[in-house]
Amino acid sequence: MKSRVYFVPASYDEDDKTLAEKVSKLVKMSGIVEGIAKDDYVGIKLHFGEKDNIGFIRPSLAAVVGDLCKERSQNCAFLETNTIYIGSRSNTISHLNLAHSHGFTYANTGLPIVIADGITGRDHVNLKIDKKHIKEAKIASGIIDFDYIVSMAHVTGHCQTGLAASIKNIGMGCASRAGKLEQHSTVLPEITKEKCLGCGLCIKWCPKDAIKLVKKKAVISKEECIGCGECTVACRVGAIEIKWNESIHNLQEKMAEYAYAALKDRRKGFMNFAMHITKDCDCMAKDEPTITRDLGILASLDPVALDKATMDLLIKDAECDRLRDAKDGYPNIDWNIQLEYSAKLGLGNLDYELITVD
Ligand code: SF4
Ligand code: SF4
Repeated sequence: MKSRVYFVPASYDEDDKTLAEKVSKLVKMSGIVEGIAKDDYVGIKLHFGEKDNIGFIRPSLAAVVGDLCKERSQNCAFLETNTIYIGSRSNTISHLNLAHSHGFTYANTGLPIVIADGITGRDHVNLKIDKKHIKEAKIASGIIDFDYIVSMAHVTGHCQTGLAASIKNIGMGCASRAGKLEQHSTVLPEITKEKCLGCGLCIKWCPKDAIKLVKKKAVISKEECIGCGECTVACRVGAIEIKWNESIHNLQEKMAEYAYAALKDRRKGFMNFAMHITKDCDCMAKDEPTITRDLGILASLDPVALDKATMDLLIKDAECDRLRDAKDGYPNIDWNIQLEYSAKLGLGNLDYELITVD
């Protein structure tokens, strides 16, 4: 049976009131929050944008979704995890400061923020899934207690997955730092001797005593390291590096397996904001030019159908695949891998019926 995907044409050129009305109508028609029960813990998973990036979903529109969730349960919050790399979202404190500076304050949205993997991104639970790549997914521990997830994804291209939309918002976005590292890399972190100051901070952070100082330089024991990635954020001078070496194919499949783990046993609904679409994702600390015109907002109970419908609309509108054909884009990244593999995992359906909301 085909999944239903609801679509409302929209553009950021429209005023906030008009967009808010469209979001409200779309959420109601698609039924993506209808499954919320009284007193459910509801996590609205989104990305607050990186410093100097303006592509993220506007707080005023996230607040509309928040209000509709709060009509059903008072236990609602925005939900996010820290980044794997050092930056303004790699610990909860700077992450919250950034979210507030982008307008995600309680005063603006009426919702608190939960950074689900703890102060430094190391809190997770191992969820057994026994899939092709991932046997136990390291999902941020704060995600586990949410009964209902509403994913709000800003659609963009991506330098490693080709497409960043609902599957990525959940698969990468609900993983702890160790889970993100597991998706991106097949090897353990490495220390650049020339940069190491021998301060020993990483030794205190390592949960496995896998780092020793040898001749005043940190050295990682390959036998003892479990690849958790803690040391990469502990080092203040960037001497410990992640190798971003996982293949495009495996990275997308791992991401789908992580999405499977995060969504398993949870009720859920999904939205894609196909507006201000750039060739890179909102993790870029800069504003990039858009590569398509704004198309609108889509919603569905099925994340696979939603991402597929979004891409079909984008391709039809541009008469080409702008995520791969954009100037300096990523022609060699087949973003379809994440969709097809997610469908195989049973995350959703590639067949859909598109319903346009007037
Ligand atoms: S924290 Fe960084 S600088 Fe300090 S010992 Fe570890 S690798 Fe070297
Ligand atoms: S990745 Fe984790 S286990 Fe390995 S050295 Fe770094 S902190 Fe220790």
